[in-house]
Amino acid sequence: MRYDVAVIGAGPAGSFAAEKLSSLGHKTLIIDPCDKKKICAGILTAQYVRKYGVDESYVERKLKGVRLSFRDIRAEITYRKAVEYSIDRSAYDSFNLNEAISAGAGLRKDTALSLEENGSSVAIRTTKGQILADYAIVASGVSDLSRLCGGPERYAFCVQQKKYLEPGDYFEMNLMHGGYSWSTPKKDCVLTGTSSLSGYPDIPGEKSLIPLGPVKKTFSERILLAGDAAGFVSPFEGEGIYYARRSGEIAAEIISGVTEDKNVLTDYESCWRKEFDFSTLALISRMLSNDRALELFTKSIRDNERFNKLVEGILTKENKKPGIKDIRFLIKTLVS
Ligand SMILES: Cc1cc2nc3c(=O)[nH]c(=O)nc-3n(C[C@H](O)[C@H](O)[C@H](O)COP(=O)(O)OP(=O)(O)OC[C@H]3O[C@@H](n4cnc5c(N)ncnc54)[C@H](O)[C@@H]3O)c2cc1C
Repeated sequence: MRYDVAVIGAGPAGSFAAEKLSSLGHKTLIIDPCDKKKICAGILTAQYVRKYGVDESYVERKLKGVRLSFRDIRAEITYRKAVEYSIDRSAYDSFNLNEAISAGAGLRKDTALSLEENGSSVAIRTTKGQILADYAIVASGVSDLSRLCGGPERYAFCVQQKKYLEPGDYFEMNLMHGGYSWSTPKKDCVLTGTSSLSGYPDIPGEKSLIPLGPVKKTFSERILLAGDAAGFVSPFEGEGIYYARRSGEIAAEIISGVTEDKNVLTDYESCWRKEFDFSTLALISRMLSNDRALELFTKSIRDNERFNKLVEGILTKENKKPGIKDIRFLIKTLVS
């Protein structure tokens, strides 16, 4: 059978792309072995909740904000308008995949090994055979297949483990040079993790990679990259689920808009660039790459209400982009 679109990967990027395509009437197949648990802190951010809401079935805890620390300096941002949720990531992924299947997408439990564009189709070689489709969306996260398709090559290295500690109502981040560690409250435990730019931290836990910003090219003749496969993760605080979902939807809309006389896959890049402001987030991340800046950052959140509100706005993505005045104020504070 030939498909209109093959979607490789059933994380948020793939499931939401497939759901949208199916609901627009396209014959869509999701390919995923469905045999791995995703390692994730499981925060649905304010940006996500504002746009999409949540389903009670996967929510573990409502969060009030974030607590930050650098050495012995502690600061707190209590969200004034926004709300975030700590979720069960496996339940969230299953929920989204079921929604895509309910919308009409097929699921093949299989692993894609390679993709080849041949004029009017894409041939996907899998462990069980070959699949033909008019278009493909590569939503396979950080994987060998994504790398083969031009996906991310630079990552932060993360290790995470479950601890049976009393969970609170704040996401906690301990800042350090070249990485950070976190603690995410769940229903009856916490997930603690550490990320580093220079290899896996030498601590026990489950290992995973997080890409460091968008790849150079996210489209070809018949293939689009979405989510982690395209490097769509905030280089500041590691938010990726929102960008995965939204990029999957944009990819689906773009493919749906292709007509015989006009291939608009090139529009994908301008569409996501209009919505995702990774460059400001990367700038902030670069500014925080030394101990002095991290100290000033944490102290300013603690002592300066305007700065506290500014960081709240950046973390919750209150505005699409922080204004130039805000960026100047941020820079001035961090280099003072
Ligand atoms: C430790 C850690 C903590 C994080 N915490 C958060 C957080 O709290 N909040 C947040 O917003 N983001 C967080 N992120 C980022 C977030 O998890 C990712 O950005 C998000 O999961 C990306 O979704 P995706 O659909 O692109 O890829 P994924 O969720 O990785 O899904 C990819 C899918 O592709 C499948 N696949 C892979 N290879 C193949 C193949 N060859 N053939 C077929 N299928 C394949 C996999 O089985 C998987 O199901 C975290 C990341 C890490 C590493």
